[in-house]
Amino acid sequence: MDLLTVGTFARPPDDLALRALQPTLGADRTLLGGGTWLFSTPQPHLAGLVDLTALGWEPLHVDDDGLTLAATTTFATLAGVDPAAHPAWPAVGLFAGCCEALVGSWKVQRVATVGGNVCLGLPAGPMITLAAALDGTATLWDRDGGERTAPVVDLVVGPQRTALAPGEVLRSIHLPARALRGRTALRKASLSPLGRSAALLAGRLDGPDDGSGFTLAVTASLPRPAVLRYPAVPDAGTLAADVAALGDAVGVGGGWYDDPHGSPAWRRAMTLLLAEEIRVELGEVPG
Ligand SMILES: Cc1cc2nc3c(=O)[nH]c(=O)nc-3n(C[C@H](O)[C@H](O)[C@H](O)COP(=O)(O)OP(=O)(O)OC[C@H]3O[C@@H](n4cnc5c(N)ncnc54)[C@H](O)[C@@H]3O)c2cc1C
Repeated sequence: MDLLTVGTFARPPDDLALRALQPTLGADRTLLGGGTWLFSTPQPHLAGLVDLTALGWEPLHVDDDGLTLAATTTFATLAGVDPAAHPAWPAVGLFAGCCEALVGSWKVQRVATVGGNVCLGLPAGPMITLAAALDGTATLWDRDGGERTAPVVDLVVGPQRTALAPGEVLRSIHLPARALRGRTALRKASLSPLGRSAALLAGRLDGPDDGSGFTLAVTASLPRPAVLRYPAVPDAGTLAADVAALGDAVGVGGGWYDDPHGSPAWRRAMTLLLAEEIRVELGEVPG
């Protein structure tokens, strides 16, 4: 839709130009990623946009430490990463599944960005799930020219609420090689086959050389993402108790999420079911 209150549009061509514009960002001037959310709903408070898509950030940077995704990497680019090209990193197989969890047409997938997904902070944000399961660390640029890093899972603090300061830019997300070496499993529940995620869970089992730890990211059924970690695959009872506690104890995960995409009770039941499926899948010794 047209954003009729927007009167200024800047498209910085490089980092320097973006940095110069950052102090002007605030309640009435915001960053534009793919625009799939910004242009989907009225934004009467907005007078200006700063478009990130001409910066030319390398979508995926691979080195010995792992893989770094630019905030401007699109879902289509991420979904197109061929797991066969990264045989040492089985967790790359999670990329396509997480992209598909956002049920949008190819038009949406082609422009929606990793950074926009995280910074929008929807409970059903699949890039949040991906980064939470793979220990993703965000690099953020503040308005004064500084930089900080933070676990992505800590950036989203509630539905459409993040820990980003005004004018802060999510520059990239680093996925460490140790996590990428893990085996992963993904499960989604939604009220209809093409519905928004009501529960989206991703698990990871590290190999013996990396400590054999088990990690479970729980998203969409909670107002904010949660991660459970174990030194090895937990038994069914332990996992179920810990997963239940995330939503049952309101202070921990904020209660089970409630919106038109699923009732809290159903989300709780599905989250327990999917967690157990992931536990069983990753606990099986691959043939
Ligand atoms: C059909 C359809 C289905 C959808 N399904 C889902 C879904 O299942 N789950 C879900 O989470 N979303 C969903 N969405 C919403 C949205 O499309 C996605 O969240 C998408 O990933 C947003 O990315 P974007 O690049 O288009 O963000 P934009 O719309 O450009 O921006 C979103 C927000 O993030 C901010 N932002 C963007 N980039 C940065 C950055 N680098 N640093 C700081 N702030 C930034 C913007 O200022 C804005 O507030 C859906 C949308 C459609 C149209």
